[in-house]
Amino acid sequence: MTVIVIGAGVAGLACALALADHEQDVELHEAAPQAGGRCRSWRDARQGVALDNGSHVLVGGNRHALAYLKRIEARDGLRPAPFTLTLADAADGGRRSVPPYQLLPDLARSLGRLRAPGRATVADRLVGLEHQHDVWQPLCLAALNTPPAQASARLFRAVLARSLWQGPWAGRLLLPQRPLSDVFVTPALSTLRGLGAQIRLGHPLRQVIFRQNRVDSLRFDDYQRHLSRHDRVVLALPWHRATDFLPHLPTLPGRAIINGHFLCRDAEGGDQGPIAVQNGLAHWLFRRGNVLSATLSAADSLLAWPSELLARLLWRDIARITGQSRPPAAWRIIKERQATLRHDPTTDALRPASRQGRNLYLAGDWTATGLPCTLESAILSGKIAAKQLIDDLF
Ligand SMILES: Cc1cc2nc3c(=O)[nH]c(=O)nc-3n(C[C@H](O)[C@H](O)[C@H](O)COP(=O)(O)OP(=O)(O)OC[C@H]3O[C@@H](n4cnc5c(N)ncnc54)[C@H](O)[C@@H]3O)c2cc1C
Repeated sequence: MTVIVIGAGVAGLACALALADHEQDVELHEAAPQAGGRCRSWRDARQGVALDNGSHVLVGGNRHALAYLKRIEARDGLRPAPFTLTLADAADGGRRSVPPYQLLPDLARSLGRLRAPGRATVADRLVGLEHQHDVWQPLCLAALNTPPAQASARLFRAVLARSLWQGPWAGRLLLPQRPLSDVFVTPALSTLRGLGAQIRLGHPLRQVIFRQNRVDSLRFDDYQRHLSRHDRVVLALPWHRATDFLPHLPTLPGRAIINGHFLCRDAEGGDQGPIAVQNGLAHWLFRRGNVLSATLSAADSLLAWPSELLARLLWRDIARITGQSRPPAAWRIIKERQATLRHDPTTDALRPASRQGRNLYLAGDWTATGLPCTLESAILSGKIAAKQLIDDLF
């Protein structure tokens, strides 16, 4: 029996790994020339450094993601950010810090309030909290990539309950200290190869052929792969690709994220931890080495803006907040149109389960994991698909 996993994003990698660890024969097919999907990096010719498609953050409570990193021996790829949250005002460059203990009264209240009917939004539930505007709304936008007025209260509660509410360690931000691919992807590919998995990059699936409610064969450009009675398929594709093959799946709305990466001339530039930006275009600033990065969540309305304009406005925020006096040596704007789902209550209710038929399973951050589209959700989805598949065999 062979399990054919389609898509080598983090969900597909985690699923393939869980299956290979259970001594299943695994084939992994990825359309792009590199694995990693929405969590990837490359060496940028303009900047002469490795860039990520977008700054990624984990928290100490992301237990599935941390177990995955331990399994691929890449746990040292994350470093903890300072405990204290730094807020900066892009209008005047002013900064202040919010220590975690100041959030506790609000946190206790918010968890009670967010335990709400399925259709409630975050904005409905957090009115009047002391840190509603400076902490909870930016955290909601970052965690759900959806403005609080639309975001699902249930999902935001799931994030808080598994992070800050578990204690300071679980709420602490963890930042990749190397390019994303070096932390989440390359070590996973090496581990999989070591377990005998067959990996084909640049090998897109073109068609799924069904017969009597089973996947009968998979068509690639160079051959058609017929499935034996025992073979299984896991589609670990993003939601907007999965519907190409499984038209019965609901059409779910996505949300964009824009990142601006700036190569700084001034070697010394202040904080290493993320800074939450108020009154600016950017929402968060990050620094790794001499690259300063600005993240803009739920950025759909800005996708049509020219990159030059976005770079100019983001750099204005960065210069005010970090005191950079000289313009960047180089910059790059990356627009990820389908970065995550739009996490409103209606979309949340439509997310599909993993098992899709007698020999077909889904994985991906957007499936019904109970978490927003994050690395934690992607890795959990891969483990859920692998577990269901193995349980169904016996
Ligand atoms: C800019 C940005 C910032 C983010 N920030 C964070 C963060 O701070 N923290 C966090 O936890 N998460 C963050 N995320 C979300 C995180 O990156 C995703 O949740 C995760 O990478 C999704 O993994 P996945 O495997 O489910 O999907 P994907 O990464 O989309 O993987 C699907 C794979 O399927 C492949 N594929 C598509 N079609 C085919 C085909 N026909 N045949 C074969 N393969 C195919 C794709 O090429 C891709 O590699 C961010 C995402 C973005 C875009």
